[in-house]
Amino acid sequence: ATPTAIMVGAEIGAKRGILVKGGEFLERLTQIDTIVFDKTGTLTAGEMVVSDVWPLRGITSSTLIKTAAAIEAQREHPIAQAIYQRALEQGFTIEQANHTEVIAGVGVRGVVRGKKIFVGQPDIQAIRFSPHIEKQIDFYEAQGKTTVIVTSEGLPMGILALTDTIKPDAFSTIQRLSDISCRIVLVTGDNHHAAASVAQKLQIDEVYPSSSPSKKAQIIHELQTSGHIVAMIGDGINDAPALAAADVGIALGTATDVALEAADIAIMSSETTRVIQALELSELTMRKIR
Ligand code: ADP
Ligand code: MG
Repeated sequence: ATPTAIMVGAEIGAKRGILVKGGEFLERLTQIDTIVFDKTGTLTAGEMVVSDVWPLRGITSSTLIKTAAAIEAQREHPIAQAIYQRALEQGFTIEQANHTEVIAGVGVRGVVRGKKIFVGQPDIQAIRFSPHIEKQIDFYEAQGKTTVIVTSEGLPMGILALTDTIKPDAFSTIQRLSDISCRIVLVTGDNHHAAASVAQKLQIDEVYPSSSPSKKAQIIHELQTSGHIVAMIGDGINDAPALAAADVGIALGTATDVALEAADIAIMSSETTRVIQALELSELTMRKIR
């Protein structure tokens, strides 16, 4: 192998916003037979919108949104930005939250006005819900929406439902990857309805919903154990372990610092077609070497 060709390949990549952390990743990219995609922010635009606000009795919808927005204010997750945006649109002043902490793939917790608040996954073990709350969550999720619960001191305040849109180029990207016999897998921390809705629209058969960051990495390991050479494409903190576990980890778009660090290739654009460009670049580079 000539190092010059790899250097040239990496240089061409860099000019197109495809940053390769080492020549070996361009080489490995030509051997990939399976691509695992994250959903939120990777195949979807990650420009979520709060579609439903459902406060429990005794809580106003303003309080629900304001409390959630205070917790999410500094966060870059699409859910956080949607909730914050919603509060701004309603003209609310966002209060200060203290001791906020992200639990990757789960949610955010912190303290607002002296109360311990959690915003995130409704199906985590620690919270017990009454049947009518669960029914409402199922109702939203059956529509393919993402739901988060807001709790105060462990007691539910209400539910927010959010919608997302699929990136305009995602369908053609998946088609083109299928055409070159690439096995496509979707992993997401989101609920199975939201996952299935995106998978169906993109014609992806293999879907792993409700996957924690470590579960995503485990799925990669299992694919590798069964003989596959796997690329992982993701954008968030929650993808970092999977990006690191993959033979080639690719951070796409406005990837978080943690994702960028864990990845082998960073694409400075959110367009999914850039993944195909990266594959083409690797082919071209390796052909020059052989
Ligand atoms: P994906 O794997 O599709 O990128 P994530 O792992 O980022 O999705 O999120 C999975 C789930 O974790 C979300 O559906 C949500 O319930 C919860 N979650 C993650 N981040 C946040 C946040 N900042 N605020 C509220 N909920 C969150
Ligand atoms: Mg994501």
